[in-house]
Amino acid sequence: MIEPVTDPEVLEGYLVDASNLHGHADALLRPSTTAEVAEIVAHCQTQGIPLTVTAARTSTTGSPVPFGGWLLSTERLDRVIAIDHDTAEAEAGVLLGALQDRIEHAGRLFPPDPTSRYDCTLGAAIACNASGARSFKYGATRGWIEAVEVVLPTGEVRTFRRGDPVPAEWPAVDWPAPGVKTAAGYGPAHDAVDLFLGMEGTLGIVTRAVCRLTDKPADVLALLVFFEDRDTCLDAVSAWRALARADGSGAVSPRAIEYFDAACLALARARADGVPDTARHALFLEQEVAEGADPDVHVEAWYEAIVAVGALADDTVIAMDDASRQQLHALRHAIPAGINERVVRNGMPKLGTDLAVPDDALAAMMDRYEATAIEHVLFGHIGDNHLHLNMLPTTDAELAQAKAWYDALAKAAIAAGGTVSAEHGIGKLKRHQLQWMVGDAVLDRFKALKRHLDPAWILGRGTLFEGS
Ligand SMILES: Cc1cc2nc3c(=O)[nH]c(=O)nc-3n(C[C@H](O)[C@H](O)[C@H](O)COP(=O)(O)OP(=O)(O)OC[C@H]3O[C@@H](n4cnc5c(N)ncnc54)[C@H](O)[C@@H]3O)c2cc1C
Repeated sequence: MIEPVTDPEVLEGYLVDASNLHGHADALLRPSTTAEVAEIVAHCQTQGIPLTVTAARTSTTGSPVPFGGWLLSTERLDRVIAIDHDTAEAEAGVLLGALQDRIEHAGRLFPPDPTSRYDCTLGAAIACNASGARSFKYGATRGWIEAVEVVLPTGEVRTFRRGDPVPAEWPAVDWPAPGVKTAAGYGPAHDAVDLFLGMEGTLGIVTRAVCRLTDKPADVLALLVFFEDRDTCLDAVSAWRALARADGSGAVSPRAIEYFDAACLALARARADGVPDTARHALFLEQEVAEGADPDVHVEAWYEAIVAVGALADDTVIAMDDASRQQLHALRHAIPAGINERVVRNGMPKLGTDLAVPDDALAAMMDRYEATAIEHVLFGHIGDNHLHLNMLPTTDAELAQAKAWYDALAKAAIAAGGTVSAEHGIGKLKRHQLQWMVGDAVLDRFKALKRHLDPAWILGRGTLFEGS
């Protein structure tokens, strides 16, 4: 077996993720091949050594943070094996954005687009069923994986292709998952590939995957549309969402619908030009232009649609040339820059929600977000009713208040038929919310599968489930 690294200075760089949860481990292993992964895993299973998979540690949930045992990093599993017309095959540690750039250079598209895609890995995007703005049109990573090579927690190497059933001897995890974008808990899978989408490093180590590719649009128009009041903004979301769902390649068929509240616009206004004084809400939209299609057809249809809903039509930014693209870029980037500045000034972490609800619960959920007593900004994937409320506490007392409010919001999302995590997963920080969402009986089914595959419960200890 490859030599475990035990130097504390090396280990230190692997013990924290983007949630700032800090753990500890006895050793780090950086295998370069599937056979090396399998040997390490088999050793840990027979010796009862807890093993945590770590990739790029951009998780916001503590899922790659170990509390004892060994750490297995996927960083040396970094080969792109093939990019063809219909599929691309790569190892788990390849950076997602870098792989996508190569695919797009070859004229094809692999759609999953977490904001962190240039910093996170393909294997973790699979393990977390990652998604982003474009999931409104394309769905999450789940729908784009054709095959996975997995090292099971016993060290057995298996390849599952789409269509392969879950092996009959594995306990089933059928459950009524919410009908919204979700990355909370094991998927109710009949297809074996799906079991590894969203399992957060608890059911196996993905070493290689085959991604399904689609047509790359010839161009993408970006639009920023401003609104004076929320009702008009939500009417626009309903209208444009309906058009996109009815005809995904129509003249008005956004692939992404993103929302920004008044606090976001204030941050943007302070740093960039172009935000009208009367604007309180904004939608950022992306419209694909297919090969051979006339972009002007989309622009004209969008202009009419924007006027028809009563948005601030004259202030709309449609990025068609370099100057307007740069203006949009500056406006959008002013928002995270402004938030980060606040976080540094406050000296306290921000707390961001990841809840999604059904269409008919969106307005009520927004009422709750807007009633947040602590300073906050609200933005995100409104096409999927998946907004991130970012609370910006300034004291320990406010941080505690923010955590309690997050839990109250999670309960409201569950009551509305939504999910406690639409894209970031559960990890070690939201286990209680998963329990509220699925209940003990479903959690027991998850655990039965986990125990069947991982008798010594070595993999991803503390993620999804308390204790064990
Ligand atoms: C600024 C920022 C923006 C983000 N935006 C988004 C977003 O838009 N959408 C979104 O979905 N997420 C987002 N995230 C969360 C995060 O980037 C994703 O969850 C991502 O998939 C994690 O990738 P990683 O390589 O950093 O994995 P890590 O954080 O290292 O690991 C994440 C989990 O995956 C497991 N894992 C990693 N590799 C494997 C493997 N090969 N086999 C089995 N298990 C594995 C780990 O054990 C852990 O449980 C964001 C995070 C940040 C910091």
